[in-house]
Amino acid sequence: MTAPTVTPLPGPPLPGPSLSPSRAADFKTCPLLFRFRTVDRLPEQPSADQARGTLVHAVLERLFDLPAAERTPEAAAALVAPSWAALLADEPSLADIFAVTARLSADPAVAAAEADATGQAVLLDAPPADDAARLAAFLGSARTLLDGYFAVEDPRRLEPAEREALISATVDEELLIRGYIDRLDVSPAGDLRVVDYKTGGAPREAFEGRALFQLKFYALVLWRTRGVVPRVLRLVYLKDAEVCDYSPDADELERFERTLVALSQAIEKAKRDQDFRPKPSRLCGWCNHQALCPEFGGTPPPYPTVDTTPLEATAADDDRLG
Ligand code: SF4
Repeated sequence: MTAPTVTPLPGPPLPGPSLSPSRAADFKTCPLLFRFRTVDRLPEQPSADQARGTLVHAVLERLFDLPAAERTPEAAAALVAPSWAALLADEPSLADIFAVTARLSADPAVAAAEADATGQAVLLDAPPADDAARLAAFLGSARTLLDGYFAVEDPRRLEPAEREALISATVDEELLIRGYIDRLDVSPAGDLRVVDYKTGGAPREAFEGRALFQLKFYALVLWRTRGVVPRVLRLVYLKDAEVCDYSPDADELERFERTLVALSQAIEKAKRDQDFRPKPSRLCGWCNHQALCPEFGGTPPPYPTVDTTPLEATAADDDRLG
């Protein structure tokens, strides 16, 4: 007697392609960097600049929990230390930025060059081997960025509709696009303004392009989910106390949608072929993975054979763009 044929039960459906601004920017910057971050999921040590950016975003989000009249520069400054403590409780490895700084400052000959590449310059201003001074310098630099915020906006006159909100939409029938917006303002007439805080330096050309790419991404999601093209996409550069407003239109967002679909197809092809090429640029100076990159004499790890479901980007990933 022949054994009955057993048909395996279908497993859960594989997720379709998805994109976030940070993952899309990774692939555009360097396909191999995308692979290291999203497919191999290699850990990365945040730089001091990135940690400070995460902290300032957290403070600006919490600031709007206060009644409008209490959203003063002093109130924001008072939120810095407790917000840092809360971030450390969630992600203790953030404290390692001070250990990295101690290592850098122990070798003065290379400290300046490495500090420039990793964004530790402010921390190096503190005396070496003095953790309290390094922490004070770090928290002080976050307060300075908040001063930049108050120079361009008055939060007592704003009532955001959403903060650090995850938004998503499906385009081209199967591509899920999603990301975290810092702030969404809605006027009484229903006009939308998307606001993104930038904690880095001035909008140099390459970075401004990345920032606008990110904001158009959010605009497309809002247009596809709410049927309204945002009236304003606002970049707030805290370091230079500058605001950059941009008004997209529907034709532009339609073209942008086609760009995202093409980008997603390129990513899916690279995954099928297991072919993610390095694309060296000046951004290599900020890359955590030079030791594994062929452009720097390294060898990437074997391509993962198990669970290559791409890792979703987090709010902090999107905050670090631009
Ligand atoms: S070092 Fe440069 S080329 Fe290599 S993976 Fe990083 S960003 Fe890409």
